[in-house]
Amino acid sequence: MELLWLLLPVAAASGWWAARRNHARRDEATARSAEYFKGLNYLIDDKPDQAIEVFTRMADVDQDTAETHLALGNLFRRRGEADRAIHIHGSLIARTTLTDDQRRRAMLELGEDYLRAGLFDRAEALFRKLVDQPDHMAVALSRLIHILQQEKDWRQAIVYCDRLGQIGGESKRRQTAHFCCELAEEASARNDFTEAKGWLLDALARDPDCTRANLLLGNLAMRAGDHQAAILAFQAVERQDRGYFPEVIAPLGQCYGVLNRLDQWVAYLCAVQQRDHSGRITDALAEWLLRQEGEEAALRFLERELREYPTLLGLRRLVEIKLGRGEGAEYSDLKALHYISTQMLNNAARYRCGNCGFVVKSLHWCCPSCLQWSTIKPIPDLVMKTDA
Ligand SMILES: [Zn+2]
Repeated sequence: MELLWLLLPVAAASGWWAARRNHARRDEATARSAEYFKGLNYLIDDKPDQAIEVFTRMADVDQDTAETHLALGNLFRRRGEADRAIHIHGSLIARTTLTDDQRRRAMLELGEDYLRAGLFDRAEALFRKLVDQPDHMAVALSRLIHILQQEKDWRQAIVYCDRLGQIGGESKRRQTAHFCCELAEEASARNDFTEAKGWLLDALARDPDCTRANLLLGNLAMRAGDHQAAILAFQAVERQDRGYFPEVIAPLGQCYGVLNRLDQWVAYLCAVQQRDHSGRITDALAEWLLRQEGEEAALRFLERELREYPTLLGLRRLVEIKLGRGEGAEYSDLKALHYISTQMLNNAARYRCGNCGFVVKSLHWCCPSCLQWSTIKPIPDLVMKTDA
């Protein structure tokens, strides 16, 4: 009993000390939470530098807070400092105190850091570990597809696209059709035309609007000497997307020529011209008239056409025919005009991305700038126009 009385002051002191410690912890937690919201507010106000300052301070004070480290790493990555982000997320993963969920999130973020730093093999290894985790499956698949596309591993990319489709993720129909076309081009380069055709039919089954598949089917048929099949494939390109028609004008004309059906060729060209006037069709028609009916017929057609639909390509063809005659006092003026229009056309961008506006001189099925598929198309008259 005496001992109890003796212990009472100790218990009171220990109670007082515990209460004080709890109070101090509460104060600390409140301060940490206030700092956290301060950091978040900076983020909302789009002030990443101040947010980084706050989160770095918090991370220094409290080494155990995974959320702070995750946020800080993301901020560094967004600011373009991928190596600092890699360091923060990498050290986080090395901790033994993380929950499974926190570890997977840190792995996902580290994968994004590696992607940003261009370390594709490391990013791929991390995303492959996450691809079976329900919470992160869609993101991991989508990142893996991006990486495999860079690595030109089209077969595996198709497998992941299909898997993404099965779990209800973003549809990759257009993309997978292009991957099939890539495989068809590889097979075609090895002279394996049966495999190439198989991939192209697969591309059309995945995306019936895949103009590239029909264009390649037309080329394959031409190589096999089946010009009738080639005509059907090239004409399908016009039905799928008129924007790509300039790409098939030359081979189509060649096929009709081999089959000695030039009347049908010109009738077809005129029908397309009715639907969509473009300098490239005008030029092809003028060339046909020049060969079949002579200079007068071609000039009459061009003068009539250019009055209604002026194009630089048509103008150059007109000047060329007049120059060919080599007559008149205006001969040197015509030469100058021909030179200027040729220079303009040679320097003109031939293709433009409808998504990001990137202009190039040759056709890319995947835009090098925005990485979208089927967005780069021929500029109909080789002269940039405003959209207004
Ligand atoms: Zn683009």
